[in-house]
Amino acid sequence: MSREKKQESIPTSGGDLRITFLGHASLVFDWKDILVYADPVSTEADFAALPKADVVLVTHGHFDHLDPKAVALLSKPGTEIFCDPESRPRLSRARALKNGEAASSRGLGIQAVPAYNITGMRSEGVPFHPRGTGNGYILTFGDVRVYVAGDTENTPEMKALKNIDVAFLPMMRPYTMSPDMIADAVRAMRPKILYPYHTKDADAEPLRRLLRDVPEIEVRFRYGGN
Ligand code: ZN
Ligand code: ZN
Repeated sequence: MSREKKQESIPTSGGDLRITFLGHASLVFDWKDILVYADPVSTEADFAALPKADVVLVTHGHFDHLDPKAVALLSKPGTEIFCDPESRPRLSRARALKNGEAASSRGLGIQAVPAYNITGMRSEGVPFHPRGTGNGYILTFGDVRVYVAGDTENTPEMKALKNIDVAFLPMMRPYTMSPDMIADAVRAMRPKILYPYHTKDADAEPLRRLLRDVPEIEVRFRYGGN
């Protein structure tokens, strides 16, 4: 995985939203005076050297999403931590959000949405991500709605999401989605910008090919060279 920190800006009604791609599922959103970390994990960055968080979001308890040490390094008095209910005992001061629950912090809207497997099974009948445990988050930055999906497949709940401007969707079978599953999801959801993330697969071509006939969805790969 590239250690290079990739960064870009998206305009919103509250000023530019700056996104940093730390790697895998670790993202940083810098908007107005709020610094938001999603799934900060120590393999992706030196969190002791990064600015402290105003908000930390944890999608679920797997090691590549929940790293209590990274969260502690990012915490200062006033940092608000939101997580799924199962991760709550492993994080001091966190507030658990169930699927469907909403919160806000310093003008940032946070909505927890379901993240789960339909077909990806650890063993017969046991999904890698059972329904009702993990969260994705819809973040409202002014007039821009950003969906950070967490570890999930193209569920009916995902496909029913409306008014998503920017979608981070995980591409890694069997734990999350294949290019086909991502294409199916975004054909329904219609985000303006799609970032495949949580991916070891630097090959953008299969997904680009599947979405060639929907040029209004801009596919941005930030984890490969293309
Ligand atoms: Zn997971
Ligand atoms: Zn994962």
